[in-house]
Amino acid sequence: MIGFSRGCFVVISTHIREIGQEIFQAHNHKDNLSSIAISQSLNKAASCGDNCIKIHDLSDLRKMYAIINLDDENKGVDQLAWTDDGQLLAVSTRRASLHVFLTKLPVLGDTCSTRIAYLTSLLEVTIANHVERELPVTVSVEVEPSFIAVGVYHLAVGMNNRAWFYLLGENNVKKLKDAEYLGTVASMHLNSDYAAALFEGKVQLHMIESEGLDAQEERETRLFPADDDKYRILCHALTGDFLIYGTDTGVIRYFYIEDWQYVNEYRHPVSVRKIFPDPNGTRLAFIDEKSDGFVYCPVNDRIYEIPNFSPTIKGILWENWPMDKGVFVAYDDDKAYTYVFHKDAIQGSKIILAGGTEVPFSQKPLLLYNGELTCQTQSGKTNNIYLSTHSFLGDLKDFGPNELAQMLTQTLMLKRFSEAWGICILLNDQSSWNELGKACLHHMEVDFAIRVYRTCGNAGMVMSLEGIKGIEDHNLLAGHLAMFTSNFNLAQDLYLASSRPISALEMRKDLQHWDCALQLAKCLAPDQIPFISREYALQLEFTGDYMNALAHYEKGITGDSKYQEHDEACLAGVAQMCIRMGDIRQGVNQAIKHPSRLLKRDCGAILESMKQFSEAAQLYEKGQYYDKAASVYIRCKNWTKVGELLPHVSSPKIHLQYAKAKEADGRYKEAVVAYENAKQWDSVIRLCLDHLNNPERAVNIVRETQSLDGAKMVARFFLQLGDYGSAIQFLVMSKCNNEAFTLAQQHNKMEIYADIITSESTSNEDYQSIALYFEGEKKHFQAGKFFLLCGQYGRALKHFMKSPSTEDNLAIEMAIETVGQAKDEALKNELIDYLTGENDGMPKDAKYLFRLYMALKQYREAARTAIIIAREEQRSGNYRNAHDVLFSMYSELKTQKIKIPSEMATNLMILHSYILVKTHVKRGDHTKGARMLIRVANNISKFPSHIVPILTSTVIECHRAGLKNSAFTFAAVLMRPENRNKIDLKYKKKIEAMVRHPDKTEAEEPTTACPYCAFQLPECELLCPSCKNNLPYCIATGRHMVRDDWTVCPHCDFPALYSEFKIMLQTENICPMCSERINTVHLKKINDCTQYLKQDDMDS
Ligand SMILES: [Zn+2]
Ligand SMILES: [Zn+2]
Repeated sequence: MIGFSRGCFVVISTHIREIGQEIFQAHNHKDNLSSIAISQSLNKAASCGDNCIKIHDLSDLRKMYAIINLDDENKGVDQLAWTDDGQLLAVSTRRASLHVFLTKLPVLGDTCSTRIAYLTSLLEVTIANHVERELPVTVSVEVEPSFIAVGVYHLAVGMNNRAWFYLLGENNVKKLKDAEYLGTVASMHLNSDYAAALFEGKVQLHMIESEGLDAQEERETRLFPADDDKYRILCHALTGDFLIYGTDTGVIRYFYIEDWQYVNEYRHPVSVRKIFPDPNGTRLAFIDEKSDGFVYCPVNDRIYEIPNFSPTIKGILWENWPMDKGVFVAYDDDKAYTYVFHKDAIQGSKIILAGGTEVPFSQKPLLLYNGELTCQTQSGKTNNIYLSTHSFLGDLKDFGPNELAQMLTQTLMLKRFSEAWGICILLNDQSSWNELGKACLHHMEVDFAIRVYRTCGNAGMVMSLEGIKGIEDHNLLAGHLAMFTSNFNLAQDLYLASSRPISALEMRKDLQHWDCALQLAKCLAPDQIPFISREYALQLEFTGDYMNALAHYEKGITGDSKYQEHDEACLAGVAQMCIRMGDIRQGVNQAIKHPSRLLKRDCGAILESMKQFSEAAQLYEKGQYYDKAASVYIRCKNWTKVGELLPHVSSPKIHLQYAKAKEADGRYKEAVVAYENAKQWDSVIRLCLDHLNNPERAVNIVRETQSLDGAKMVARFFLQLGDYGSAIQFLVMSKCNNEAFTLAQQHNKMEIYADIITSESTSNEDYQSIALYFEGEKKHFQAGKFFLLCGQYGRALKHFMKSPSTEDNLAIEMAIETVGQAKDEALKNELIDYLTGENDGMPKDAKYLFRLYMALKQYREAARTAIIIAREEQRSGNYRNAHDVLFSMYSELKTQKIKIPSEMATNLMILHSYILVKTHVKRGDHTKGARMLIRVANNISKFPSHIVPILTSTVIECHRAGLKNSAFTFAAVLMRPENRNKIDLKYKKKIEAMVRHPDKTEAEEPTTACPYCAFQLPECELLCPSCKNNLPYCIATGRHMVRDDWTVCPHCDFPALYSEFKIMLQTENICPMCSERINTVHLKKINDCTQYLKQDDMDS
């Protein structure tokens, strides 16, 4: 350091690495600088110049520690010097005077709860209580004190062996007395009544104000230790109730002033240097000879080491804030360390270091109140600093979440749960709440913890905590809390130490810590061992430790019938573990003995996975898992066994496997059965055809199952046999129409193919192919048929017309059908030309024309054609044909509600009468036969080819029936020259005789009522002479109908006399009109015939 006379003050480094560098420069004085001086002990440098002294702090040169102005010294200062201890600074002036400054006061101070007393100048003590907001009071003292003590009502200062006592009044301080001791006093402490002074290894305890206490003289004073105690007291303290001191032999003794006797003693291995009782006297911190720190609790005589205790620690201050019990700071020259005594934590009591706070240079902590440390400075002042561990006491709103989280940790460490709650509300996240909750559990604050967990919605924890709320047993409660915080080993220890050790077992069971549970059960609950063993075995099995699992399953067996189910489970475990361990025989035996099917299946599965197939199959079989057993037997190729099991097996897969195996062995019959069971029909078909020579069965199966592949196989089979027809049939069945067609083509079997294909669902293309084939083969009918099927009507018609005529003339029928379907005018005309012989001059049978018109629904043309046809038939004597043509035409027209031409109706009536003759004559009813013959003979021109035979029959029948006059009349006609020679010789003479000798006797024909007008007319008369109606005739007799004897043919609806028709049906059983078979029971008498009469009326 260099001072320049012009006022500059420069500091140059001498450090080896920056040697010569200027590190500080200041213009300390305005005009001149006369001297500089350094005090190492004070760590200060001073310069003087003009009339001023400036003092710098060496640790921070920029900081001006003090400026002292000497206003009177107008000539300026001169030289400057420190005393060695730095306590005094002397400066000489040009005016030849010397000023000496006190730079450092002895730091003396004492506290009594929040009240402090400290030396503010050499002869002045200040008493203050910032916490209680009392105004500071200064006390002038008579000596420079070497100790200060403050009590509830008193202040004591002193030096050497003397002390002065002052009474602290409301507003003033009054000197009380002074006292002398037997040696130089090292320290003194006061309480409300007593003073305790330590000197030369002894403590003198005496009353401060002794007057008027004559009764208790022996309590006025006492010297410790007693004469026979061979120790020196090294430190002492005085609380409201106790004098406490520590000795060089390591003893801490509590002297209870009230009872005037020792109440407590603690023996420490080494001597006790310093003691610090907390404000209540319930805990005592002390520092021993080795500079280790401890906290002693006289209540339970326990001692707790203060962790991370620095050997430089000079003193300890307890927190005076009443809510914050257990917090204290230990301080040395640089730092104050915050400690917390956690008394009721789960693990028990413990002291933890919460953090450290820098203490400003040369300041000495005096009082701790709510995280605020009051320190004394060397200049006789106080300075308050806040502990870094209590930063949460500031305004929390200024901090961010990270800082808040740190503060939360601090609050939790200091057990300041209310503050922690506030921080959690600000942070508002689950993890903070959980942290707080956990801390509450740690400190066994159950109620607070419930509040926390309720707030953060952890219902499970709230319920758990509510359940243990009332527990008074500390260990049991702590055990539960340890468990809740997942501290299971601790929980177990606590439970075991509690009044309910079984809780430890319950916990391990709940946690599935089966090994621990087993250990606990050995002493706590031996009866639970089997059940725990089983659980443990299960767990071991799961982790693959089969050996131990086996052992525990075995241990689990109780042999008690009460626990049969449990024992069976254990035995099942044993069986499975044996197998897993490779003791297969033992395991299998166990499994077989065991009642459970499931076990057999599970063991079977294990064995299967171990490739022990025969054993696996055996177990499956015993468990009646036949499918599985069979499948395993298949794997080990035990076909005999598979065969045995098959009746029980449902899986088609297994049947199939078996079938395949059997087929491979050539055992086809068994294979077929198995294939059937597996519903593999194609394989069954294949075997039937290829190996069993049983095509019938194959064919049946194909028909039943409609299997395409099967049909193909059968087709192939027939193809090999050369049975092309069958082959084609099955090809079609397998939907291989093209192949079938080709085959039919190759082997000239198209008719077969064609037959089959029309009964199957077939496409037009198929029909066309066939049609073209037949066209090529010139098989016109077939070609036409298939062209018709695929709708090619023109080509179809051509082929039908080209088709050679056969007896049944099917081709023409088909041609008509074709035109009917086609509804094409050109085709119709073509066919009409063909039928009428327009082109080839060969008219075809007219009935085809009739059919054509019918097919075309051209009924008038059809009716006309029908009359022509009937006429033709009649002319050539085919009366039955003529009748049928007319009848069918008549019916058709009636169905189509078309008016029936009267010529047709009349012709049908005459032809029907002719037909009836035969019937009547056959039945021997000659009268009816004669009547019908008379009607036919009256229309004989309609029967040109049979004039003579019919007339002959008429004569003969009339004669037989006794109608002599009629017989004579027709005999006369026969005798006409054009007929005479044609008469059968058999009858000729008889007829000639009739004519020659006429007999005209004949009964009148009986009469019945006209159904219209009830006029009585002859029964065979069909025209009523009264009402002129054409009367409907009975198809059975030919007579006219009467109202009260009416029926109709159930088939053709033609009327008949009910009584007569019934009689006739007894011998004939078919309708004479429509030729349909009739059972008499179906004949119904019709009471109201009006509708038939109307119809008739309309037709006429
Ligand atoms: Zn009539
Ligand atoms: Zn009929």
